[in-house]
Parts: sequence; structure tokens; C-alpha cells
Amino acid sequence: MSEQFALFTDEHQALRESARGFIERELTPHAQRWEEERWFPDEVFGKLAAQGLLGLKYPAEYGGQGGDYLHEAVLVEELARVGSGGTVAGIGAHVNIATPPIWKFGTDEQKRRYLAPAIRGEKIGALGITEPGAGSDVASLRTRAEQVDSGFLVNGEKTYITNGVRAHFIVTAVKTTDEGSHHGISFLIVDRGEGVRSSKLSKLGWHASDTATISFEDVFVPRSNLLGAENEGFKLIMANFQWERLVMALGAVAGMQLAWERTAEFARERRTFGRPLSAHQAIRHRLVDLATSTHTCRCVTYDALRRFVAGEEPVREVTMAKLLTQRACFELMDACLQIHGGAGYMREYWIERAARDARLGPIGGGSDEIMREILGRSLGL
Ligand SMILES: Cc1cc2nc3c(=O)[nH]c(=O)nc-3n(C[C@H](O)[C@H](O)[C@H](O)COP(=O)(O)OP(=O)(O)OC[C@H]3O[C@@H](n4cnc5c(N)ncnc54)[C@H](O)[C@@H]3O)c2cc1C
Repeated sequence: MSEQFALFTDEHQALRESARGFIERELTPHAQRWEEERWFPDEVFGKLAAQGLLGLKYPAEYGGQGGDYLHEAVLVEELARVGSGGTVAGIGAHVNIATPPIWKFGTDEQKRRYLAPAIRGEKIGALGITEPGAGSDVASLRTRAEQVDSGFLVNGEKTYITNGVRAHFIVTAVKTTDEGSHHGISFLIVDRGEGVRSSKLSKLGWHASDTATISFEDVFVPRSNLLGAENEGFKLIMANFQWERLVMALGAVAGMQLAWERTAEFARERRTFGRPLSAHQAIRHRLVDLATSTHTCRCVTYDALRRFVAGEEPVREVTMAKLLTQRACFELMDACLQIHGGAGYMREYWIERAARDARLGPIGGGSDEIMREILGRSLGL
């Protein structure tokens, strides 16, 4: 299966090689332990920053590498090699969902206060949108920000927030007025401090990440931390969705490729009834189907990425890529686990974790059902 396509230049490929080396040296060997400890160390952010990997797409004036979305795409693909969905989720939440709104909507002063230290790995970010009563239906969120002298007083609760325990700042969606469903949402950068309490959730996969509920009780946020225009927060939510979904598609395809290669190797080595597993037609055909699925997912994802990078607004293509890849990835992981037999069910085998981690894809970042709703509208249905 070709990895290259014409999308990436030699410079992107050079980044791929150096990122891969770093990841396989510094992150992958610890993945199993971090998963068991239900936590990866905060120092990971510092190590990534030292390699310039927290600011690939961000401007040099804030400490970034001044690269493009393709540089970031390369990193997303290579991070699949960590082998811990939780670690990748924590890094991804910081780089690809918490900091992009500051980059796009923040003032210069906010970028210096939050984006620059985030790129240096000194401040870790989270994005807080989901609430107990508002997930897919974002417009029903109830966390309130009341106007007070020189700022806001925030009360409410967020849930399922990645980096929700460790984050130094939370890019938080709040209601600033009661009017309108999509209206009246604003974004505040909330520093961890008085009145902000997190509690870590236990979950099926992504064990190394701290998914948490965060409560806000009379939290004062200065007006200088209002991100973007007041009552226009819905735009900010929509602005990063395409990139977030592309990131999920890219990560899924890279994970599928890796799982396929490892499973094919296992099937060549493991013998039953006097032959390697891969010599049994049922297994060989299954592997062929999985290779075909991976290739299809990559083509659809790269088509969406190419359009995105060219400046189109490829909502339909990105939505299709997200929908197709997340379910296909989970199905591939399940099939790879099956090919491993009893070993696939054991903690010591990577596929046990990969299969659990992949279950999040069809739920997070907009569920399969929501992707179908978007596509239904886009197709005039
Ligand atoms: C591990 C993890 C990490 C996460 N990280 C973050 C984070 O960092 N920041 C953040 O803000 N959020 C985060 N989320 C939240 C995630 O985005 C939501 O879980 C997701 O959007 C779904 O919302 P919900 O859980 O409230 O489900 P609901 O919206 O209650 O949906 C329940 C089910 O009903 C379906 N459904 C809903 N509406 C419709 C409809 N109109 N038609 C048909 N079916 C429908 C959904 O697809 C789903 O299957 C995370 C979630 C998880 C599990």
C-alpha cells in the first residue's frame, strides 16, 4: 500500500522521518506503562516542544515552525506509532482543538499569553464544549457567564473533556445571553484556579488520557480572556470542525495501516493445521479486504485534505472522510483482533488496546449520526 501520494513534498517527508524517529525513541517504549498508569507525564509536552512538534502550523512570531497543515498532518499520521490512543488524544487535544481557536480568533496579547507558552509546552490546553446535557446538540449548553465588573462570572459543568485534569487553561464555551439557540454562545479562556474543579472519568479506552468533568463555581474570568466576538462563539466552534475531523480521519488511516502490517506479519508467522494463518484462504481474503478498506479510507481522506489545504471549504468531503474512516478503523481493529485469536484478547498484545481505543472514533468529534445529518443536508435530503 502506497504511503506517499503526491500530496507531501520532500520537506514533509523529512519531517516524517525525524518525527518517526523521535516518537519511536521517546514515546512508544513507554506507551504500555502510561496506559496502565492511566496517565502520561506532562513532560511529554516539553519533549515535543523541544523538537518543534507543538507548533508546526503556527507562526514563528509565537514560537511556531511557520509550517502548513500538511506538516501537522504528517505528525498526526506518525503519532499513530505511539500505540496509545490516550497519549495521542492528549497531545492532539492540545495541538489540534484547544490552541487553534486562540490562533485564529485570539488577540495578539492572548496569543502571547496562551499560544506561545502552549507551543513551548509550558501551558497545556483543553477545549471545553460538551456538557452533561449538551453533546451533539451543542446549542443547548448551559454553562453561564454573567457580566460583572471588568469580566465574567462563570458557573456550570463540562464533561468528557480531554486534558480535563492536567490543562492549565480551558478554552470554554459559555452562554452569555439567553437569546437564540445558536446565538448567545461565547468563548472564554479559563485559567485553572479558584472555583475550577476537575474529576477524572474511567473509560473503555484511551486510558493514558485524562478525560474529565470540570465544574465552574463563581469563576471570575477577566474580559481580556474573551476569545473572539461576544455571542458569536458558534462560529468559533464551527471554524475548527473541519480540521478536527480531518485529524481524526488521518489518525484512523495511519492506525489502520500499522495494524494491518502487524497483523499480516502475525498471520505469516502463526501456524495452524500445518500452515501459516495467511495460507488459509479465509484469513488471506480477510487481510485483502482490510488492505482494500485502508486504501479506500486513505484516498477519501487525502482527497479531503488536498481540498482543505487548497483553501476550499470541503465540508462534504471531510464529513465523508470522518464518517467512513472511524467506523472502518474500528471494524479493522476488531478483525485484526480476531486474527490474533486468544492472544488478541490479552493485555500484553497491542491489538487489545488498539481495538478499544478505536471505539471512540464513531462517537467523538461529531458522531456518525451527526455526520450523516450533515451529509443529508449537503446532499439536499
Ligand atoms: C473520550 C472522549 C473524549 C472527548 N473529548 C472532548 C473534548 O476534549 N472536548 C469536548 O468538548 N468534548 C469532548 N468529548 C465529547 C464528544 O464530543 C461527545 O461525546 C460527542 O459529541 C457526543 O455527544 P454526547 O456524548 O452528549 O452524545 P449525545 O449527543 O447525547 O448522543 C447520544 C447518541 O445519540 C445520537 N444522536 C444525537 N443526536 C441525534 C440525531 N439528531 N439523530 C440521530 N442520532 C442522534 C448520537 O450520535 C449518539 O449516538 C469527548 C468524548 C469522549 C468519549
